[in-house]
Parts: sequence; structure tokens; C-alpha cells
Amino acid sequence: MAGELMTGMTIFKSLLDTASGLKDIHDATLRDQVAFMLQKQILEAQAAQFALVEEVGNLKTKLSKLENWETEKLRYKLERQDPGVFMYGLKPDMDNGEPDHKLCATCYNDGQKSILHTDHGSGLTYWKCQKCGFEEHSGRFNISGNRNEGAGWMGQ
Ligand SMILES: [Zn+2]
Repeated sequence: MAGELMTGMTIFKSLLDTASGLKDIHDATLRDQVAFMLQKQILEAQAAQFALVEEVGNLKTKLSKLENWETEKLRYKLERQDPGVFMYGLKPDMDNGEPDHKLCATCYNDGQKSILHTDHGSGLTYWKCQKCGFEEHSGRFNISGNRNEGAGWMGQ
């Protein structure tokens, strides 16, 4: 972006130099050629300015998302589910009316909020992140336990 800014400043300096030199050109054909070149440079300067405005807009959007995530992530804390699955869970009194849920630790550490989907059966809880593909189970397998009936998203 600094390079683009320098390019824009160079173009404006060139435009000023060219415009101030127009008064010294007495040949009409040469003056027309210089005026044409000036118009071309003005268009290039406008294109450079539009690119910078777009870049600033994109950076503001990224900054806003980062600031929102920095606030949002404070609602969660790292948790360990036995036998050793890590994820982020809501802190007490931070649910903001949302149902209890867990976030994917990989996505959390990449600055993204991704709620883990769950399914239960035979003493195990299955966890899956739809965003990054994380998939794990926690709990202890209980052969006498009944798997939940119904159309679970993980299947059998
Ligand atoms: Zn994930």
C-alpha cells in the first residue's frame, strides 16, 4: 500500500509539472499532445486513487472484524473434554441468552468463531467443526449405552 501511495504521489507531481509547462508551449500540435498525455495521467491518477480507497475500505472491514472477534472471544475459555479434546466453552454468565455451545479451538486460534456440532451415543460425544473439518469424540465408550435414535448428522 505504501508503494501505491508513492506511485499516486509521483503521478500528481508529474501532473503538476506538466500542467505548469503548458503555458510555455506555443506549438498548438505539441500542446494538444501534452494535453492528451495530461488527460491520460489524470485517468491513471484516478484509477490509483480508486484502488487506494477500495484498499482502505477492505482494511477497515478487516479491522472491524478483528475488533469484534477480540470482544467476542472474551466470552469463551479453553476447556478440556475427557480424554483430551480441547475446545472453547462459554464462560459463566456470558451466554447472552444463547444456548450452551462450544467453539472449535483451531478456528478460534485462527480468529474465527465456529460452533462445534455435536451428536451423542454410547457414552461418547462426537464433535465436528463444519468450517475446518475438525472431528473428534470425547467421553468413554459404554457398550451398554444406547445410541440416540433418529437421524443424527454423523450417521452410525
Ligand atoms: Zn474449526
